[in-house]
Amino acid sequence: MQRIGVFVCWCGSNIAATVDVQAVSDALAKEPGVVYATNYQYMCSESGQNLIKDAVKEYGLTGVVICSCSPRMH
Ligand code: SF4
Repeated sequence: MQRIGVFVCWCGSNIAATVDVQAVSDALAKEPGVVYATNYQYMCSESGQNLIKDAVKEYGLTGVVICSCSPRMH
């Protein structure tokens, strides 16, 4: 059984001004296989990356879904 973590990024107001990031992470938390879902202002920041790393350890995640910009953006 997968143990998926979902991390929805605000990108400051770039995403959060348009998308209800709390509603998205709340909805995704109910998906099969998802054991943890959250949202954060800047997922690529050091604190955002630590949030992901800590959740992998704490929840024993087998996979992550990062809802943010494309890696090609930066
Ligand atoms: S991960 Fe992408 S979307 Fe999120 S704060 Fe960084 S640049 Fe913005």
